[in-house]
Amino acid sequence: MAELLLKKGYRVVGAVRDPIDATQRLLPTLSGHIELVKWDMHSSSAMSQVLASVKPTEFYNFAAYSSGAGMYDDPVGMIEVNGLAVVRTLEAIRLVDGGIRFCQASSREVFGEALESPQSELTQRHPRSPYGAAKSLADTMIEIYRQRHGIFASSAILFNHESPRRGMSFVTRKITYEAARIKRGLARELYLGNLDAQRDWGFAGDYVQAMWLMLQQSSPGDFVVCTGKAHSVRDFCEYAFGHLDLDYKNYVKEDEASFRRAEPVLLVGSALKAERELGWFPEIGFRKLVEDMVDSDLRLVSAVEI
Ligand code: GDP
Repeated sequence: MAELLLKKGYRVVGAVRDPIDATQRLLPTLSGHIELVKWDMHSSSAMSQVLASVKPTEFYNFAAYSSGAGMYDDPVGMIEVNGLAVVRTLEAIRLVDGGIRFCQASSREVFGEALESPQSELTQRHPRSPYGAAKSLADTMIEIYRQRHGIFASSAILFNHESPRRGMSFVTRKITYEAARIKRGLARELYLGNLDAQRDWGFAGDYVQAMWLMLQQSSPGDFVVCTGKAHSVRDFCEYAFGHLDLDYKNYVKEDEASFRRAEPVLLVGSALKAERELGWFPEIGFRKLVEDMVDSDLRLVSAVEI
């Protein structure tokens, strides 16, 4: 998001837990180009002070516990950070400058065990994890701030968004990183859970473009951001290993202990509203996404090797 905004000529301020730590971990593309300020998600007054001094025109909220394996471990912290802190932010915006436009990175986890497929903005929320419940709380409050206080607050219901920067606990990155290691002779096999699990995987860079477009509209609203196409973990393996001239069947093993409960309906979104109202379409298709991630990990693994 920061890279996109810099390209568009924005002044970008990163609101982070610890500016010194964040400075050290900043991507080279951002270093020297963005400012960092301390953002305490537990303190309404600290939030208000930051908003009053930075004077943002747009606010994109990505601060959250991420989904993945750990998302059931700390339900209280999850609701605090992914839900309540969003309400604090909205309240700080209302008090300091009700004209600040707010965009929330929400999640398809709000649909949980989805009640219909594909999932759209009109699909009933049915969260089945503390993560989904917290994101759903935030979405409900965004709607309330929109209607009751006239705040320009929008929520992007993001389906799985991948890139070479994806964390290793997610299946996509686990596959591309291990495939690269296998190609380089650093590993021999890869254990995964259910290969038939399906997801609607898109490129994160496309999804932030949708979020930016959401804040350029004449009125706020919620948008599902997805590709509308589901692929299996098996498809992902086939393309990832295939790109390295390897056959995944020789390396990938299913580990039944890692199987998750199957979803009752297909988790796939419908981005028709984003297409119609924002003119947004994802630019990077599934195969290119997989190949870009593999290429990046091959470079990473080769650099580590040297
Ligand atoms: P999620 O959509 O946030 O759960 O993203 P993940 O990348 O963690 O999981 C995507 C899908 O891949 C899920 O249906 C998992 O059950 C499936 N999967 C299969 N093998 C693995 C694995 O080894 N690790 C992870 N994280 N997921 C796996």
